Amino acid sequence: MDALIGKTLDELTKVALSGGMPKFVGKQLAEWLYKKRVTSFDEMINISKKNREWLSANYVTGRERPESRQKSADGTVKYLFNVGPGRNIESVYIPDKDRATLCVSSQVGCKMNCYFCATGRLGFKANLTPAQIINQILSIPPAPAKGETPATELTNVVFMGMGEPLDNLEAVLPVIEIMTAPWGMAWSPKRITVSTVGKLPQLKDLLEKTQVHVAISVHTPDPNERGQLMPAQKAFPIASVMKMLAGYDFSHQRRLSLEYIMWRGVNDDIAHAEQLVRLIGNLDCRVNLIRFHAIPGVELHPCSDERMLMFRNFLNSKGITATIRSSRGEDIAAACGQLAAKK
Ligand code: SF4
Repeated sequence: MDALIGKTLDELTKVALSGGMPKFVGKQLAEWLYKKRVTSFDEMINISKKNREWLSANYVTGRERPESRQKSADGTVKYLFNVGPGRNIESVYIPDKDRATLCVSSQVGCKMNCYFCATGRLGFKANLTPAQIINQILSIPPAPAKGETPATELTNVVFMGMGEPLDNLEAVLPVIEIMTAPWGMAWSPKRITVSTVGKLPQLKDLLEKTQVHVAISVHTPDPNERGQLMPAQKAFPIASVMKMLAGYDFSHQRRLSLEYIMWRGVNDDIAHAEQLVRLIGNLDCRVNLIRFHAIPGVELHPCSDERMLMFRNFLNSKGITATIRSSRGEDIAAACGQLAAKK
């Protein structure tokens, strides 16, 4: 049966009207699903019993609990959701003082086939529906068990889990609308970041239709090297991506980040840092330097802390904000590039 979560206000209103209900029931549904986050029709007490019965005969709410979870020594929690026969995805909950970020998945597997990524190695299985994406956000952190301290509610969501979000923009856009609309979760778009290899027409669409932050997976400024690590470079060269981004304003509310995983002897020297500075030019952005996490079968190695510091300091000396991202959840394979949805 079709799920109600993942539907926008217009779509929920259509559902209500198709069941012979007044138009305002659409808004009531949005409120129950996205603000009060109920998981069953029985809880929607301002909707008549007859209408609730019609809804449950024709729809499901779509709320699914995670199948399992694994907790890291550093507090990071990796959740596994089943999204169909033999299909699983993972979401990673990352608490940090008074913040909690959820890294959500947008596809089962991924078509982009980045050499250094465990998800890419799975190949592509399916796109997630808006319901399956927003369910991750609505269902994490789950209600605490008796005696357990409640986990910090989500403050941020990053589309950096399994899949290339812009390869499933038809599902990602309605999720962003639900998260930011006053009738939905009413989040500021500043709490949401979408990460991409730079899928060009869709990236433009995202920039035009939303106000969310954007993160571009650069990983090396050298086009040939990038082509070997990221096959998407052929269709969407990083220079073209940067040129397109230069047409947008990232100096105010909206933030642009460049993601740069550092590998020993591959992209960790001053020549690469200089090339990166040239690639950035006058673009207003920050660089996130990411520690690499070993993946079986991948002949790449993390670089040393000294190299990362040297690289960061060089970028800073050129007036570019660069930060070394702390590593989270590596012991449960929840860190960047490690998600493979193994049961
Ligand atoms: S790094 Fe991202 S885009 Fe590349 S294969 Fe992995 S999930 Fe896909």
